Amino acid sequence: MNRKGGVMSGGKTVVYPGSFDPVTYGHLNIIERSLQIFDRVVVAVLDNPSKQTLFTMEERMHMIRESTAQCHGVDVDSFQGLLMDYMANREACVVVRGLRAVSDFEYEFQMALMNRKLNRKVQTIFLLPSLKYIFTSSSIIKQVTRFGGNAAEFVPPVVCRMLKEKFGKIPARGNVRPETLNNPE
Ligand code: ADP
Repeated sequence: MNRKGGVMSGGKTVVYPGSFDPVTYGHLNIIERSLQIFDRVVVAVLDNPSKQTLFTMEERMHMIRESTAQCHGVDVDSFQGLLMDYMANREACVVVRGLRAVSDFEYEFQMALMNRKLNRKVQTIFLLPSLKYIFTSSSIIKQVTRFGGNAAEFVPPVVCRMLKEKFGKIPARGNVRPETLNNPE
């Protein structure tokens, strides 16, 4: 609560951590919703040497930067190690995560409680994407495009292009405006 009794009414930074391998319209939907509550969203890309990613850190950050170029208040950063250490270094105290289906819940719940144990001052909040992105995940996008499928409905043009470069195939349809950036349902 702020001094006026409102809940989370702006003036704050929220950290949105994840792998973003690659960023999807589902992620962008969460970023946009976060900007309705917070002044700044720091998209913190996890550099985890033990997790193999399709895209390098530079590529993942580039795709997020390009996809959020029209949004005010988005910073893109990377971090290694514990999220709670990163939060302390940035002097940030709110984490946002996206929740899709029930399948996300258990993992997210465990992570949030563990993070709370590590630092009681940091709060985790969960936002729901638009229904149309409930089934969008980076891994499904990679599976589909690896075999030449069309992902243009689910990822921004820069991601389509870079998937095409990685897999040497053209996702069937071209650029689709990220409608989520203007019309979060
Ligand atoms: P991680 O590897 O930490 O799960 P991801 O990049 O897969 O990182 O996801 C980061 C966050 O974004 C997670 O909270 C995840 O649940 C959320 N997320 C991913 N895809 C979507 C989507 N389509 N809609 C809403 N939230 C999503």
